[in-house]
Amino acid sequence: MKGFAMLGIGKVGWIEKQAPQCGPLDAIVEPLAVSPCTSDIHTVWEGAIGDRHDMILGHEAVGRVVEVGSLVKDFKPGDTVIIPAITPDWSSIEAQAGYSMHSGGMLAGWKFSNFKDGVFGELFHVNEADGNMALLPEGVDIVSACMLCDMMPTGFHGVELAQVTFGDDVCVIGIGPVGLMAVAGAALHGAANLFAVGSRPKCAEVAKEYGATDIINYKNGDIVEQIMEKTKGKGVDKVIIAGGTVDTYAQAITMLKPGGRIGSVNYLGSGDYVKVPRVEWGCGMGHKVIASGLMPGGRLRMEKLAALVQHKRVDLSKLITHRFDGFDNMEKALLLMKDKPKDLIKPVVVL
Ligand code: NDP
Ligand code: ZN
Repeated sequence: MKGFAMLGIGKVGWIEKQAPQCGPLDAIVEPLAVSPCTSDIHTVWEGAIGDRHDMILGHEAVGRVVEVGSLVKDFKPGDTVIIPAITPDWSSIEAQAGYSMHSGGMLAGWKFSNFKDGVFGELFHVNEADGNMALLPEGVDIVSACMLCDMMPTGFHGVELAQVTFGDDVCVIGIGPVGLMAVAGAALHGAANLFAVGSRPKCAEVAKEYGATDIINYKNGDIVEQIMEKTKGKGVDKVIIAGGTVDTYAQAITMLKPGGRIGSVNYLGSGDYVKVPRVEWGCGMGHKVIASGLMPGGRLRMEKLAALVQHKRVDLSKLITHRFDGFDNMEKALLLMKDKPKDLIKPVVVL
């Protein structure tokens, strides 16, 4: 079968591979719609997780089940399914401890385009199908559903990590598709003032639609000063980080009230250290918590988030600014995520 792959750091192209084999608990799926991710860009062009050779890219797909293993109970060939970007080993000790995303080792619940071929192939393999796939609910289209694989669960995980509660003043740093989902999630969790940091006008417009009360442009001056001015010097209760660099954490800590929490889902592709500013961290006594993580993945979470979309609590179609038809457009769609033109939020390729 053919697949669009990372050939090595900084290199992508089409390759031929053996079709994946189905184990007793697994499924083989044919993609119907896929979306490239900023994480694919960190992986290929920044070499953020190390070198990978001839590994098919992609971890966001809605697909049709082609084959299931003999022990799979709830899915059959022909089913249309959403596959989360993170597909843990549910029987692992890490999953039993509540950290499914780290099943088998740090970040090892993230298998597609990390430890095995991803979803930009003619077929792909899903481990533990009963635990890692969800049926596409009625009324949710496959293009919007692609945003359920990673963008919505990751943005919402930022909200969970920050523990946003009713009446909190919240700042979301970064309003690409992940940050926009954090804005939508924070609004659902009862944020009062909801500051959104970004510069691209299309993202700013959609952030407002998802519930942002103010847009802060980091290109127009220090974001801490802008937040402090808008909060009369008090700062915010919660910060969600979904963009920026290793230096963004110092800004987040500085704009946080004592007792505040940072929920970070950013994938740091470069830089060696995250610095914590001593004084702004209350000389170590400020009760300012940094919680950061990969989203948990799995079926239950996917079904619950899909239900939110089905019942029209969140409109995912706002994230999709570019639609392509046909596998041949894979490279064009991926390069859009690399170049980030002003009118881009997310591209989807329908197959
Ligand atoms: P985008 O690149 O589309 O968005 C990044 C956002 O950060 C943009 O709004 C950008 O602004 C803003 N930004 C850039 N530099 C700065 C800065 N110096 N200060 C403040 N804001 C800045 O990324 P995505 O939304 O696609 O993804 C966000 C991150 O989440 C990525 O690192 C991605 O790899 C990661 N991720 C993590 C996952 C997890 O499970 N933890 C899963 C999926 C993704 P501008 O408007 O100028 O572009
Ligand atoms: Zn992704």
